[in-house]
Amino acid sequence: MDASTPALPLLVLGVHPPPWLTCPPHANEAAVSCLHPALRHRSVQDRGDIILHMRTVYTFVPSRNHVYPDHPERPARLDLLEPRLESFDAGLLESKPATQDEIASVHNPELVAALERVCREEAPGIIDYAPTYVTKTSFEDALLAAGGVITCGRAVMDGEAKNAFAIVRPPGHHAEPGRAMGFCIFNNIAIGARAVLAHGLERVLIIDYDAHHGNGTQAAFLNDERVAFLSAHQYQRGFYPGTGWIEDVPHAKKRIVNVPLPARAGDQAYEQVADRIFLPFVESFRPQMMFVSVGFDAHWNDPITMLGLSTGGYLMLAKKVIALAEEHCDGRIVFVLEGGYDPTNVANGAEAIFIAETGKGASEAKDSNPYKEPDCTARIEDIRKWHGF
Ligand SMILES: [Zn+2]
Repeated sequence: MDASTPALPLLVLGVHPPPWLTCPPHANEAAVSCLHPALRHRSVQDRGDIILHMRTVYTFVPSRNHVYPDHPERPARLDLLEPRLESFDAGLLESKPATQDEIASVHNPELVAALERVCREEAPGIIDYAPTYVTKTSFEDALLAAGGVITCGRAVMDGEAKNAFAIVRPPGHHAEPGRAMGFCIFNNIAIGARAVLAHGLERVLIIDYDAHHGNGTQAAFLNDERVAFLSAHQYQRGFYPGTGWIEDVPHAKKRIVNVPLPARAGDQAYEQVADRIFLPFVESFRPQMMFVSVGFDAHWNDPITMLGLSTGGYLMLAKKVIALAEEHCDGRIVFVLEGGYDPTNVANGAEAIFIAETGKGASEAKDSNPYKEPDCTARIEDIRKWHGF
């Protein structure tokens, strides 16, 4: 610990200092991350009163004017969740629109300019075959959605919050650096990860368990060794977006990991994936902070997919990734909403995230998967072997 570390005033305040201020003098390699200057340079005067209330925070960007007739990615996805938000032991943070520079950390300026022009001059309309739509407000809505993730990321990185959940739409994980696609305008989670990297972090890890492959996030970090990315998703012929096979990214073994799963893979398969793949993936990368793309479309009764998670499965997964964050990066984790097209599943799933993040409450959902699960053991072992886990 160097002389600039302001440990004493924290003791005066009578609160537990955040873990990165309390690393033992002979910190082992795994603990070095908690001493990173980006995580300790802020003065106690700046943050002392905030630490007293360190807790779970969230942002909420419902984008009510980003709506298109008969489209599943619609504001009503959040209608059952919204009235329940105040019942969770979590603080709402105001989202600010992402800046042009923050968007440009992931997306080509030409794409950004084209999207702005299309929204202003030609919307409403369809911009890709998924179909992805835009309205007159979609550009501003997408800036605010990305900003909602940045706000959560900063709060957790700065120690103002223990962990966070960015409940935003339009979703982001299909949006590639040069292409909006798959109901996504900007890649919210990638922009959030780049924002904490821009503020000094060196290793950020993203796990994506939306039902669909996070092709956009993978593309954003294909050659960025500061970021590790894992996507677990349904994979079969004709299933969107068609990427995400085990061997798709041979140059980045252990850092970019794809876990393609068969239809009906559910709570048991995902638990195996968490224990046999998430765990060595996180251990080998040693992140300083984690983000999770969570899509509630891996629920067994989602209207547009065929996976098999229940709300109990979502709770189990959230607890497991939070435990990994506790072990490797002092609990710094931000969940980010992606897909999920049944409002009940979204409300129950989001509640499960808050239960896991706050350690309070219990899920009342009774929605176990009625379908038989396929045995995914051999697939999971193939993936471990390919990466050398
Ligand atoms: Zn999805």
